[in-house]
Amino acid sequence: MIQSLLIANRGEIACRIIRTARKLGIRTVAVYSDADASALHVRSADEAVHIGASPARESYLVGERIIAAAKQTGAQAIHPGYGFLSENAEFAEAVQAAGLIWVGPDPDSIRAMGLKDAAKKLMQDARVPVTPGYLGEDQSPERLQAEADRIGYPVLIKAVAGGGGKGMRRVDAAADFADALASCQREAASSFGNTQVLIEKYILAPRHIEVQVFGDSHGNIVHLFERDCSMQRRHQKVIEEAPAPGMDKAARFAVCEAAVKAARAANYVGAGTIEFIADASHGLHADRIWFMEMNTRLQVEHPVTEAITGVDLVEWQLRVASGEPLPLRQEELSINGHAIEARLYAEDPAKGFLPSTGKLEVLDFPTNSRVDTGVEAGSTISPFYDPMVAKLITHGDTREDAIALLRADLSYLTVWPVRTNAGFLFRLLGDSDFRAAQLDTGLIERRGETLLIDPLPGAADLTHALYWLDSDPSAETYLIARGLEGFRLNRAPATQRAVSVSGTRVAFDATEGELSSHFFRHPRDGAALLVFEGATFRVTADRTEGGAGGAAGDGAILAPMPGRIVSVEVSEGQAVTAGQKLLVLEAMKMEQALLAPFDGVVETLAATPGAQVQVDALLVKVAKAE
Ligand code: ADP
Ligand code: ADP
Ligand code: MG
Repeated sequence: MIQSLLIANRGEIACRIIRTARKLGIRTVAVYSDADASALHVRSADEAVHIGASPARESYLVGERIIAAAKQTGAQAIHPGYGFLSENAEFAEAVQAAGLIWVGPDPDSIRAMGLKDAAKKLMQDARVPVTPGYLGEDQSPERLQAEADRIGYPVLIKAVAGGGGKGMRRVDAAADFADALASCQREAASSFGNTQVLIEKYILAPRHIEVQVFGDSHGNIVHLFERDCSMQRRHQKVIEEAPAPGMDKAARFAVCEAAVKAARAANYVGAGTIEFIADASHGLHADRIWFMEMNTRLQVEHPVTEAITGVDLVEWQLRVASGEPLPLRQEELSINGHAIEARLYAEDPAKGFLPSTGKLEVLDFPTNSRVDTGVEAGSTISPFYDPMVAKLITHGDTREDAIALLRADLSYLTVWPVRTNAGFLFRLLGDSDFRAAQLDTGLIERRGETLLIDPLPGAADLTHALYWLDSDPSAETYLIARGLEGFRLNRAPATQRAVSVSGTRVAFDATEGELSSHFFRHPRDGAALLVFEGATFRVTADRTEGGAGGAAGDGAILAPMPGRIVSVEVSEGQAVTAGQKLLVLEAMKMEQALLAPFDGVVETLAATPGAQVQVDALLVKVAKAE
């Protein structure tokens, strides 16, 4: 067995690999960029080596530095994770040439599957059913157009070197083909440095079904059943599950056999995934599932397979890389229950899924889920990498159980002030078609706005938030804020229910049968964070006369709402007394004075008159008088 391992990746997948390595008694070496100097994966490893500046091109994508780091620390093997260099055959070769073990397939297998057209040809030769289309050498626009006409619209133009949902264009009519081709080739040139394309029949009511395969260096290949990844946005997976709902024994047998055949054709060793596209307009049928591509690495969604098979896929990778045979034979593998994974991203669905970067002041994960993450409270989501916060994975006896557990966890998750897609995921998991397993890759787009906008919590929830906050429960209006938005809500008559307190969390007695919100105290200024159906809001009482916000906490006065600084009444170093006016903020067309929470000295003054501020922006910090 390998004794020491360098992980050429970051974030949740680096932490995930370190966890299994530790279990197996393997020494771990992390690598990191400037932005990741204090990242969780760095602190989790036994050793860590700085490999460059924050942009991935200057660190995580620089193969020589990673190999040098392995040499310098005496690591025997390199695990590439997913993304970055994981499907780079030259890097795999360089690792081997340096006398290190590559935890992955042979570089030739990576190369054979690296271009979609070559991979499809290889599969065709191996008699694996492939998506109908054109894979030819002739890339003249005339020929491509003629082939598209022959295939029949709609068609999908795909960059052969594409990945991550990029370099694809759907074309619905012959007249649109030329423009779509040009734009696809432009994207392919800039993203992959290769303008070659293939053309596929666009499958209607498409379902993405993929099969986990595993090979060893003794010629054994098994499959670990299928996953369904049809919940996609812009061809990128959002929710994945295993097994695929509605897959009968015959269809499962056919697709898993095809996957093993495909892996065999690629002389596959290690973990891989064969992706298929299914025409699900009339359920799943063996003769309507076609090979799409192979990913020669561990997949983001591998945990759902682990949950239903009980196999630790990273452990298998390390054993196979050490030359051991696969730990289990095909007939020893079976499906147990149902598992679902949701990808939690720091992004704002209501704003076109714009990444939401910054410090995770509050991050509290739920308990039903396996949480694979690379961050913790206090970590920062930087603009340099994929803004994934975590993957939440639940496992139940049935699909319904797994969905219910995941929804419950999403409604409990607290993230602040960074915004996430948790509310979006919560609603998607509650969608009636999703629950009925009426899946296809267009579902999210069809739902439009309804999935994107987080509803505001109701008056009863707000009253309870204030009650718990210990702020004046007789307040007439509330200020509710998230990101750039603020709301002022009038209090509606609400019956107070009993509360039970455990730690910093409060759960309302659900005897009235209502969905309960959860509350969390803001660590800086003591405001209430209200978690409602996946979305976290900041709630304070609106006391326009007396001033809002500015609960005690550590003396940090944060903006209770997004707004504009009207005036600043103090200067840095000035002594202030409790209740003294520090500044005036205009928000929601009303002015609010922010007051000193206790006697002390203005330690930091970060507000300037006229400036626009976001909710939670630090305005003033008062240091308590001794
Ligand atoms: P999958 O088919 O498994 O979803 P993709 O081919 O879509 O995989 O690519 C994986 C995605 O993960 C890429 O978009 C890549 O940018 C992203 N990625 C790569 N490394 C990391 C990481 N360490 N943490 C989070 N995301 C990553
Ligand atoms: P990538 O390398 O970016 O992962 P894929 O070839 O795996 O590219 O396709 C990504 C997604 O695009 C699929 O999961 C599916 O949703 C959609 N897609 C791909 N091919 C087709 C097709 N022929 N018809 C309909 N949808 C497709
Ligand atoms: Mg793919």
